Amino acid sequence: MKLTYTTKNQRLQVEIDSDSVKETFKKLAEFQEVFDESCCQLCHNEDLQFVVRTVDGNDYYELKCRKCFAKLAFGQHKTGGSLFPKRKNDDGSFDKEGKGWHKWNGKSD
Ligand SMILES: [Zn+2]
Repeated sequence: MKLTYTTKNQRLQVEIDSDSVKETFKKLAEFQEVFDESCCQLCHNEDLQFVVRTVDGNDYYELKCRKCFAKLAFGQHKTGGSLFPKRKNDDGSFDKEGKGWHKWNGKSD
């Protein structure tokens, strides 16, 4: 079965090819979690940039807002190579306000 999905903001398209509904569901879920962030949750700008920073041999995956320079960081699952957006505060509670989008003070890389 083949499925074509376009993100909410119409900027990205993915073609998912799989044998079962469950597999399609899984792949689509994985795609949506990472690529279907339609705008910065702080300023609602839709012009986002995918950034990978390498520090000390570790890769850090981030989405960056080109307007207010806020970032959404992604965590990496230990197996499978998939990513997930970090939407929690440092204390483990859900970040209701920015949904994981943060501005790092004084840093402008
Ligand atoms: Zn922004």
